[in-house]
Amino acid sequence: MQINVSQQLKASIGSIRNHGVSGIVNVAGDKSMVQGEVKLMRTDRSILAKSTLHTEVEVTCSRCLSLFGCSLTLNIEEEYFPITDVVSGASLPLPEESGCFTIDEYHVLDLTEAIRQYALLAIPMKLLCREDCAGLCPSCGHNLNQGCCDCSPQETDPRWSVLSKLTLTSDAMVNKRKEME
Ligand SMILES: [Zn+2]
Ligand SMILES: [Zn+2]
Repeated sequence: MQINVSQQLKASIGSIRNHGVSGIVNVAGDKSMVQGEVKLMRTDRSILAKSTLHTEVEVTCSRCLSLFGCSLTLNIEEEYFPITDVVSGASLPLPEESGCFTIDEYHVLDLTEAIRQYALLAIPMKLLCREDCAGLCPSCGHNLNQGCCDCSPQETDPRWSVLSKLTLTSDAMVNKRKEME
């Protein structure tokens, strides 16, 4: 995800170069393949990077807890400031705003950190492996996407779920059960 921009730093303001990029980026502890195009434009003070990248991160379904791949499209637009003048080698002042992206003393523009930040923001809040994920059985934890479990249907009877909230002794439970039958 590193692009040497020394030639472009010497080019005139407004000059544009396109690069195809692909590489592995560590997003939230997982290594993800990232691919796409980046357009770099020389400005009077920086290089403006506009990029559309595609990646897939491994996430956990919030309903059934299985891991699945979540495809992300990242539309990155960030300005990169050189810390060193490409001709004289002198240090350059960085803009006031903190946390801006920089081009290092070897004139390398590194997209990795921007990709990581954009990817984290692009991961949806509600993660489902599929729209109709059946989730887990509340009694035995079986993944219901893989078929039914052996739990008796009575246990999911809403009348019993009300009863189970009460602290009844087993005898009282039996009596209650008889009453309802
Ligand atoms: Zn699921
Ligand atoms: Zn079950």
